[in-house]
Amino acid sequence: MKFDCDCCGACCKNIRLSKLSKDLDRGDGVCKHLTAENLCAIYSARPLFCNVDAYYEKFLTDKMSREDFYKMNHEACRRLKNLTGEVNRGIFDS
Ligand code: SF4
Ligand code: SF4
Repeated sequence: MKFDCDCCGACCKNIRLSKLSKDLDRGDGVCKHLTAENLCAIYSARPLFCNVDAYYEKFLTDKMSREDFYKMNHEACRRLKNLTGEVNRGIFDS
């Protein structure tokens, strides 16, 4: 099972909203590693808090189900998408 990310980039464009990611801010709230193609330039070495599955496996397996953690993250994604006006491609419609 893997977290269903549609690569909208909304999280990477709002990093100032989290204390964890504020050091990545290029100065306008967007991550300095987000490319013009809306991709992560350091994807394979991205911070743990950018990797839902790795974060869950390191910190949360004994605290909540993976499904519940995915739900929390999808809700955060939905809010971020609304903030940034990103197109919701339908992954939260069910
Ligand atoms: S906001 Fe959610 S769906 Fe969009 S890139 Fe970030 S994790 Fe993926
Ligand atoms: S490091 Fe990569 S995944 Fe994390 S916020 Fe920056 S661009 Fe997004």
